[in-house]
Amino acid sequence: MAKTTSPAPRPKKAAAKIKAAKKPPTKAVKPLQKKSAAKKAAKRRPRKKVTQAEIQEIFDRFAKATPDPKGELEYVNVYTLTVAVVLSAQATDAGVNKATRALFKAANTPKKMLALGEETVRDYIKTIGLYRNKAKNVILLSQKLIDEHGGNVPEDRDALEGLPGVGRKTANVVLNMYFGHPTMAVDTHVFRLANRIGLSSGKNPAEVEEDLLRIIPVEYGIPAHHWLILHGRYICKARKPECQKCIIHDLCKFKDKAPGTPFV
Ligand code: SF4
Repeated sequence: MAKTTSPAPRPKKAAAKIKAAKKPPTKAVKPLQKKSAAKKAAKRRPRKKVTQAEIQEIFDRFAKATPDPKGELEYVNVYTLTVAVVLSAQATDAGVNKATRALFKAANTPKKMLALGEETVRDYIKTIGLYRNKAKNVILLSQKLIDEHGGNVPEDRDALEGLPGVGRKTANVVLNMYFGHPTMAVDTHVFRLANRIGLSSGKNPAEVEEDLLRIIPVEYGIPAHHWLILHGRYICKARKPECQKCIIHDLCKFKDKAPGTPFV
């Protein structure tokens, strides 16, 4: 995915929570794993095991290299963040930003979005894949926010996943980026990277999410999501990973990794 021109500002609320990353989330995020799921996840082992010390080292290096990682979707409030994430399914962040800059100037609240109407929203976002369905969902979710949540985006996983167009991944992004919860949204980059490094041998996003939430050091619960996405997007690319530039080369268990520069 391409770089955007300007990173989205981190809301004060989320930034403050990142500083307090060691504190557990205050409310609303239900434990990810039931006992049986946790047991199953514990049995699932990466093909080559990464030790807990190596996991700590991997995330220490990410933290040193990018102490304050940021997402690349542009938004002005939690509502526009939610809409932007809904629009980003099977699209690049850069492509979404290009369309939403004008859209969010015209409508940055559910009420204003409803006033625009589905047809106009469709016109604003027609450069994004699946735009017809996405425009419909943006209108439906705006209506639901007004009808059931007083026009606010709820800080609650079930309520978020109840919004049209919002699935687990979108809920995880909103809970992490705006509300500061230690969630892990597993997109194509995170899925690939987790399997290559050896952090997970999960066969689907849900399994990878379980594994990552179990093993990532608690102090990195919030920024880890951004580090993995950015590393997968710009370094550990799908076709040609840039192993020679990789800061965790010596720790990565990918059997096909290219030679890299020793970490110093
Ligand atoms: S060494 Fe290569 S395969 Fe392993 S994480 Fe780095 S870029 Fe990806």
